[in-house]
Amino acid sequence: MRGLMMDTPLLVSSLIKHAAAQHAQSEIVSRTVEGPIHRYGYAQAHRRAQQLANALTALGIVKGDRIATIAWNGYRHYEIYFATSGMAAICHTINPRLHPDQIVYLLNHAADRYLFIDLTFVPLVELVAGRAAKLEGIVVMCDRAHMPDSKLDNLICYEELMDGAQDSYEWPIFDENTASSLCYTSGTTGNPKGVLYSHRATVLHSFAAALPAGLCLSESEAILPVVPMFHVNAWGIPYAATMTGAKQVMPGPGLDGASLHEILDAENVTFAAGVPTIWLGLLNHMREHGKRLDRLKYVVIGGSAVPASMIEAFENEFDIEVRQGWGMTEMSPIGSINTLKPWMQDLPPSQRMAIQIKQGRPPFGVEMMIESESGEALPHDGKAQGELLVRGPWVCSGYFGIDDAGVHRDGWFATNDVATIDEQGYMQIVDRTKDMIKSGGEWISSIDLENFAMSHPDVQQAAVIGVPHPKWDERPLLLVVPVPGKTPDKADIFNFLSDKVAKWWLPDDMVIVESFPIGGTGKVLKKELREEYKDYALPQ
Ligand code: AMP
Repeated sequence: MRGLMMDTPLLVSSLIKHAAAQHAQSEIVSRTVEGPIHRYGYAQAHRRAQQLANALTALGIVKGDRIATIAWNGYRHYEIYFATSGMAAICHTINPRLHPDQIVYLLNHAADRYLFIDLTFVPLVELVAGRAAKLEGIVVMCDRAHMPDSKLDNLICYEELMDGAQDSYEWPIFDENTASSLCYTSGTTGNPKGVLYSHRATVLHSFAAALPAGLCLSESEAILPVVPMFHVNAWGIPYAATMTGAKQVMPGPGLDGASLHEILDAENVTFAAGVPTIWLGLLNHMREHGKRLDRLKYVVIGGSAVPASMIEAFENEFDIEVRQGWGMTEMSPIGSINTLKPWMQDLPPSQRMAIQIKQGRPPFGVEMMIESESGEALPHDGKAQGELLVRGPWVCSGYFGIDDAGVHRDGWFATNDVATIDEQGYMQIVDRTKDMIKSGGEWISSIDLENFAMSHPDVQQAAVIGVPHPKWDERPLLLVVPVPGKTPDKADIFNFLSDKVAKWWLPDDMVIVESFPIGGTGKVLKKELREEYKDYALPQ
């Protein structure tokens, strides 16, 4: 027997419609590329999104068309998110940090009809636009006064485009499984693959993200996504915040420690989210200048493993709670978030930290299992390690334009991450399969070694890579970026590590470097490091 409930589809447009009606004055504050801070409430954001939907209709955009963006986090980008999805077109966010040839590949693969860009990216787009076959026009996200002097001949001014359009638009009702946005994976190997989110997945993901054990969003909170809107929809924050009426603070291009501190402080931000490298900049700035952020309650850190030293710094020095998150472009992205169970709060600090450095527990909606190389399900005992498989309504079921990418097994998505799951349900990433170091037939976790190395007071960042070895196949090499003004001593660091890991895990050598190559989504590029050090002569 079927239930007698309305079959109302879950649509992205319903989020902003609701926010406009219920949280009209709750603000979206943006630092613009042009300079000034812009602010407006959800009611006005909704009117502008409707205006843009009319403008896109006038350009001939119809259901299913792809509209690309290369833009920072800001209010116009937000309007594009909601206008495109709301009219059943698809918002395709492109990471400006990709190589221009990869951007050309993405524009062509997605067959984007229009490209919306921030002023910053005009020179980049000059390099690529001529090679994007389907592109009909480029909209610069500024007013007439700021329009650039560019050799691109098909430039449209965003505000002029808007000026010609009405600000009321009836959002169409359609199947909730319709595609809403498109984001390509970072593509560290081969060409990036397109993850095509649906309205249903986006709305369900927003419910999970907003929960107290997630981003804890409500209209009493102000959230700043440092994570860019071109990387997995800023972890879904623009949608989840809109669902709850939370104030949103968009940092624009200002992602250094000083700029972040200024806007976090000025806008009374209570919750911020980003990758570890970003937080390192903020921590260094606050320490150097004796600053604090007393209204900031939580930071969500994810994208790469969070070192214990970072959790300690936030919690002990600045009284800011760290919630580690794990996820993937293929998971919209939330897969797990680490919050402690009530009884864990009173554990001694070292026992609490042993839990906090795990990647956390899945929210309702995500299921996880770990599997051995021979395909057996492994126990959740915190010890058995295997490939992490996930499933749920916001996990991808395939890639855009690829028939079978071979990442699904019996209805589960294979993450390529190796993990443990403990009796309490906490998942811990041991490594990415390709970053694990195989020494004498046994696996060494680069993440564990890095975490321990980063808890040494002289080490700011650490990366451990496998270097070919004639006897053991591979042995670990530790690369460190020192804390400014310090010179880490190899013997001292190895001595420090020796009571934390098995003897055969100890790296064979250590190299001090000034910085690491960082990829488009803020992660250390291990692949480049492996390439650079592939002939490194380890001491015998
Ligand atoms: P992306 O699709 O670019 O967001 O990258 C997803 C990958 O980032 C995951 O498969 C993990 O390997 C890694 N990752 C994300 N969050 C974490 C985390 N908290 N700890 C360790 N690795 C992470």
